[in-house]
Amino acid sequence: MPKHYDLIAIGGGSGGLSVAQRAATHGARCALVEFGRLGGTCVNRGCVPKKIMWYGASLAHTLGEAADYGFDVTSNGFDWAALVAKREDYIRAINRWYDTYLADAAVDRIKARARFIDLHTLEVAGERYSAAHIVVATGGTPIVPNVPGAKHGITSDGFFELKERPKSAAVVGAGYIAVELAGMLKAMGSQVSLYLRKQHLLRPFDAMLREALMEAMLDDGINIFPRSQVQAVERQPDGMLTLLCDQCQSIQNLDVVLWAIGRAPNTAELDLAAVGVETDAEGFIRTDDYQNTNVQGIYAIGDVTGRTPLTPVAVAAGRRLADRLFGGQPERRLEYENIPTVVFSHPPIGTVGLTEDEARATHGASVKIYQTRFTSMYHAMTRHKLKTAMKLVTIGPQEKIVGCHIIGPGADEMLQGFAVAIRMGATKRDFDDTVAIHPTSAEELVTLR
Ligand code: FAD
Ligand code: NDP
Repeated sequence: MPKHYDLIAIGGGSGGLSVAQRAATHGARCALVEFGRLGGTCVNRGCVPKKIMWYGASLAHTLGEAADYGFDVTSNGFDWAALVAKREDYIRAINRWYDTYLADAAVDRIKARARFIDLHTLEVAGERYSAAHIVVATGGTPIVPNVPGAKHGITSDGFFELKERPKSAAVVGAGYIAVELAGMLKAMGSQVSLYLRKQHLLRPFDAMLREALMEAMLDDGINIFPRSQVQAVERQPDGMLTLLCDQCQSIQNLDVVLWAIGRAPNTAELDLAAVGVETDAEGFIRTDDYQNTNVQGIYAIGDVTGRTPLTPVAVAAGRRLADRLFGGQPERRLEYENIPTVVFSHPPIGTVGLTEDEARATHGASVKIYQTRFTSMYHAMTRHKLKTAMKLVTIGPQEKIVGCHIIGPGADEMLQGFAVAIRMGATKRDFDDTVAIHPTSAEELVTLR
């Protein structure tokens, strides 16, 4: 007889941990299946190690500016390995914390890979487990392109395994990971080339953001090659890499080629076909507004659904699903509109809601834009004049704010509060009526004309 639960979560990342823990607090008997370290991508290979490297890179920028504030500082080098060792200790502590978290929540941990046997039964390491509700939260894996020599490159997973700073790196891609890792490598002293297959980086973002970031990255000394389709990677006799590009600049003597061209869902091992769970053309599991798949009793949350692949989204979807199934809240669900997000580029980007183009396409002439571009007081003192840019997208006679876009130092910490206001339906008048905090960059958002 299989061991029976009310809910089994497959995947011990942001989504799986959240749904199992919340369901257990509602009294459900829960298990979580994870073959790897608890915490999933975010903790082990994503947000957490990335943010630590970003802090390091930000410090490198600050050190470069210290003389402009009168400090006589000499930087005698940067110990990549020391930072990585501390980072990994920190992550191991989070892994241990999650072990306790599951035990405290009385969620059983099953340490192996799960696959479906039937609608309510999983096989894990030769044992059978059944549940009334099964939640797939298996996340995704970086995509490696199908070009000759692609295996010589690394992905973001490999970036976090680097034992020393690469002297020269080519980053291929145009999204979050490409711009974040390119920015960090550059700040930490690597020579960096960024290959975009189209014209822009961060293509889905507001034009103001992507143009300002491109300018800042070029200004930082990152070589950006737009409209460049990489053809192959070759290993040179001396062990270094050559990246070959057709009708664009090839580059030799690279320590690292880093693929950052998106992520594919982890569904292959689940045997979804055995239960008839539908996926889209790219393999992401199709879900409705309530995280239901097409099969009753089977749900999917987080990156494996391909819907806004961010940690807080996976967490929120998981908690709401548990509230709906076990917490007596039958209408509880995550609304996917107005999800704020930050790109940890240099400088960072904070963005929520509609871009100007999206708003104009939907709301036409009722769109009114407020924007500004300025040098913050901090950079008034530095030789390197980094710009801050901000935009509010409003619609209708009430000037309801439907989009808020910021690039500049502090944008990462600035956005959260504005996202609350926008979710509550704030208008331009509400922003105007809010007393500014002075002197800050954020005050510009409540004084736009
Ligand atoms: P995951 O966290 O990927 O967890 C899935 C888990 O399922 C994995 O641990 C995996 O081992 C397990 N699994 C897979 N198959 C099976 C199976 N058959 N049986 C058992 N277990 C299985 N998001 C942010 O919000 N902010 C950031 O700053 C940020 N930075 C990022 C940086 C990088 C480099 C990357 C790659 C991602 C980043 N993200 C960030 C995205 C974020 O990490 C993901 O959105 C989040 O981890 C998704 O959670 P999840 O639970 O859906 O999947
Ligand atoms: P993204 O979806 O952000 O970007 C990948 C980009 O790579 C595409 O938009 C595409 O841009 C480009 N691309 C696709 N295929 C190719 C190809 N064959 N050759 C060259 N370029 C290609 O994916 P990421 O992997 O960067 O990140 C995955 C997700 O993880 C993000 O969407 C985000 O949700 C999350 N994340 C969040 C972070 C945060 O919150 N700060 C940080 C890191 C990741 P184009 O079509 O313009 O060429």
